[in-house]
Amino acid sequence: MKKYTNVSVQPDDFENQRVLVIGKGNSAFETADNLIDTAATIHVCSPNPISMAWKTKYVGHLRAVNNNFLDTYQLKSQNLILNAHINNIKQNEHGKFIVNVSYTHANGEVEDLEYDRIIACTGFRFDDSIFDNSCKPNLTINNRFPDQTSAWESTNVKDLFFAGILMHMRDFKENQSGFIHGFRYNIKALHQIFERRFHHKAWQHQNLELIPQTFTDVILKRVNQSSALWQQTGFLCDVIFVSEDQQQGKYYQEVPQDYLFDSDLGKHNHYYTITLEFGHEYLDAFPDPFAIERVHKDDIHNAEQSPSLHPIIRRYYQGKLVAEHHIIEDIASEWKEEVHIQPLLKFMTEQLNDSQGIGTHLLAAGLLTSEQLEVALAEQELETSARLGDVIQKRGWVQKRTIQFLLHQVNNTLVDNPELSACAQLGANLVEAGLVTSTQVDEALLEQQISNKRLGEILVNHGWVTPQTVEYMMKHLSQANVTVQPEVAVLN
Ligand SMILES: Cc1cc2nc3c(=O)[nH]c(=O)nc-3n(C[C@H](O)[C@H](O)[C@H](O)COP(=O)(O)OP(=O)(O)OC[C@H]3O[C@@H](n4cnc5c(N)ncnc54)[C@H](O)[C@@H]3O)c2cc1C
Repeated sequence: MKKYTNVSVQPDDFENQRVLVIGKGNSAFETADNLIDTAATIHVCSPNPISMAWKTKYVGHLRAVNNNFLDTYQLKSQNLILNAHINNIKQNEHGKFIVNVSYTHANGEVEDLEYDRIIACTGFRFDDSIFDNSCKPNLTINNRFPDQTSAWESTNVKDLFFAGILMHMRDFKENQSGFIHGFRYNIKALHQIFERRFHHKAWQHQNLELIPQTFTDVILKRVNQSSALWQQTGFLCDVIFVSEDQQQGKYYQEVPQDYLFDSDLGKHNHYYTITLEFGHEYLDAFPDPFAIERVHKDDIHNAEQSPSLHPIIRRYYQGKLVAEHHIIEDIASEWKEEVHIQPLLKFMTEQLNDSQGIGTHLLAAGLLTSEQLEVALAEQELETSARLGDVIQKRGWVQKRTIQFLLHQVNNTLVDNPELSACAQLGANLVEAGLVTSTQVDEALLEQQISNKRLGEILVNHGWVTPQTVEYMMKHLSQANVTVQPEVAVLN
């Protein structure tokens, strides 16, 4: 019995022989294809059916270049593809291999099959023999790969990193890290990870003004040009980190998404990711990959139903995905037309104005009614460049100072000074937001010494703020300050 790595590649060596090829990947079919003209019959066998790369979009599955063999099975009945477990292999007195198999699709039928030659094309396995027990990395995926973190570091041996095909552990059978055309971009990312970790240098980035048009231009340029996002679909992403004052952005290129979420980078309060992704959900819904229902090229409202590779922009806020925009697929995979530009510009305008954000905060704080919000959003829609906060303020519903406080302070949590008690912070924040005066807080604090009531309760009793506003402030306070118990946070 031979392996893919040491079997003869001369077809004449197999003349008139019955050959069993074990495995159903590219190496198995490349081997089988090579023997079609000379072997008497060829069986390709493994427990699972073939996965076709042109259906799954994974290049490690069977590629068209290796699948001539399929015709010799389906059309000529010369050869066979078996879905079966191999129970055991024996050699008889004539030197023939007797292979006992259990079929996957025939009610567990068991049969003995006879072959002259067997070739194992069962894939590669990581050889860990060079590692002493003191630094032997844990293995995973049937011991094929060393187990790795999202920074491609061994999960059990610190400072031991893996590059090249071994990086595929992180996206096994999903993306292209098992191939040079994929892992070459991972290695660039690994270099940046090393720069951060060992030289304390920031990931290379570009500074951006947070202006919707700038955002739109930069994103479209990247999705039209980046080969890393193109090859490592949904695995590598560009990231825009938004500064605390919401005025600046830092544009990072080609960050592994898992690393973003696992590392300190993902602790940023506010960021956007940009990826190129297939619509697998829509692709998988159609059994025939060549008869997939497509969205009309102008149907921008259903862009998320694009089955082909298309850009996706996601906005994360305080660790949560809060908005997602799909740029509709394009026949030439170029996103340069108005149907690509205008919806993205609108999305970025809405997001950067934080329209829903400030509206939701004002509603939650009891400072705006839902009817008022509806009117303000409608008014903003007519004048897209207007910020929602400005519309609300111009109508006299909430003062500018309060809106600014909520946008700039709440978004970055309310606690400025961890030395202050929750009670003092509540008073300071309400004054800062222009919701009460410092005289009122002083008065309430004096009253608190006598009555022993909570500060929020006293302010509410006076009618200076609503219980909802106090609760809202305390909720954000308690999220940021773990020492404040939720029940204390209701009315301090
Ligand atoms: C048939 C085939 C076709 C392919 N086609 C493509 C393709 O079209 N496009 C693509 O992108 N990828 C393709 N690939 C995948 C690609 O070849 C591999 O992903 C790539 O070669 C892996 O590179 P690597 O440097 O990580 O590992 P390897 O190329 O396997 O290199 C590892 C090296 O380490 C050496 N080594 C191992 N153990 C030790 C040790 N103890 N001490 C010292 N040295 C050691 C080995 O001898 C070897 O030289 C193909 C693979 C195969 C098998």
